[in-house]
Amino acid sequence: MRCFSYVHPSEGIFVRFVVIECRGHNYIRIHKEDCVHVREPGTSTKSSLWHGYFDTFYDAKEFARSLGERVKECTFCSPRNY
Ligand SMILES: [Zn+2]
Repeated sequence: MRCFSYVHPSEGIFVRFVVIECRGHNYIRIHKEDCVHVREPGTSTKSSLWHGYFDTFYDAKEFARSLGERVKECTFCSPRNY
């Protein structure tokens, strides 16, 4: 039997949020930290920059807005619904 390290948020693990700045496309996207699209905050590639961690979705959104680009929410991890 395989052992998975992933723990579902409903089991009481505190989930933080990560903001990804997509420089090439000029938009910002908000994710939960356990989303497949998330990398370690501070990570920078040619097209993206990861910011975090944010304790609440609201904090992440405030920061995302401060960057001055369009703000989107990830449809895969639905950060708003956490
Ligand atoms: Zn996501």
